Amino acid sequence: MKTFIYLIFAFLAFSACKNESKEASKNLQNESEKVEFSIIIHGGAGSIRRENMSEEKEAEYRKKLEEAIRVGYDVLKNGGTSLDAVQNTINILEDSPLFNAGKGAVFTYEGVNEHDASIMEGKTLNAGASAGTKTVKNPINLARAVMDNSPHVMLSREGAEAFAAEEGLEIVEPSYFSTEKKLKSLERAKASEKNKVASFYDADLQDSKFGTVGCAALDKHGNLAAGTSTGGMTNKRWGRIGDSPIIGAGTYANNSTCAVSSTGWGEFFIRGMVAHDISALMEYKGLTLKEASHLVIQTKLPELGGDGGIVAIDKNGNMVMEFNTQGMFRATMDDKGELYIGMFKNE
Ligand code: ASP
Repeated sequence: MKTFIYLIFAFLAFSACKNESKEASKNLQNESEKVEFSIIIHGGAGSIRRENMSEEKEAEYRKKLEEAIRVGYDVLKNGGTSLDAVQNTINILEDSPLFNAGKGAVFTYEGVNEHDASIMEGKTLNAGASAGTKTVKNPINLARAVMDNSPHVMLSREGAEAFAAEEGLEIVEPSYFSTEKKLKSLERAKASEKNKVASFYDADLQDSKFGTVGCAALDKHGNLAAGTSTGGMTNKRWGRIGDSPIIGAGTYANNSTCAVSSTGWGEFFIRGMVAHDISALMEYKGLTLKEASHLVIQTKLPELGGDGGIVAIDKNGNMVMEFNTQGMFRATMDDKGELYIGMFKNE
């Protein structure tokens, strides 16, 4: 009998070890295996909970996320650049009123929509950004034009709009961006404003979702790129600019490490230089993308008082979606065409 029990124990211990080593090698394999190309997107992080969302709304978000990522996926599959994949994917999200970018952007205190965007190429560390524009239909296209066709990295407000017009980018009436839903958010924000300080410091608003859009991609040529586009935060004032157009905070790409797009409470992403910090932890400390993203989003950012998330890809095509909020609109596609779409925690 005793021998029999020993035998059972020995068998259990052996199978536990076997499972463990299987897990470990699975992780290892994931992080060292190089995929040909991959793409990842977000549509903002925040208080995105299943119990607060109707089935129809959920389906609408999933459909738009899929449409957007498939556009970038096709670019990559056909041998296009990660920059084009990022830009074209973001265009779809900017044109959708579901997200806080392009059409559907949140309102400033003055009741207008002001857009920020940035894009970066990992091969050259070239980058472009625009801040505070009110009439450029697709701000990510302006960021790209700043990068490609100007000697600068960031242009702002009227100057950026004049440059956009010279570049032949689509200019629209400011009313194009306006949506009923975001106007209501502004009214709510103003009603809860406790003092003259921009009310996104109010706890209720901190709890609402952010809705910025972003994308990171690795192309067949081994080049990484990332981009981000946003209307900023509801009730922003005094020409407030968030992290989205700041290279290193909202967007970063470097072929030797990773490409990152951020979403969340911008002031903290700027102070933490979140996107660059993830890259730096990989470069200087040898962390994997997963370890670096986890450390920055789950420890360093909350320690500062900030919340939000990132999507990122490393030079081998490994993808990470890390957020410390209730949810984050997100999707990934790899070179096998496998699609993942998520919105809530733990899915
Ligand atoms: N990060 C953006 C900002 O602070 C907001 C967002 O991610 O939705 O402007």
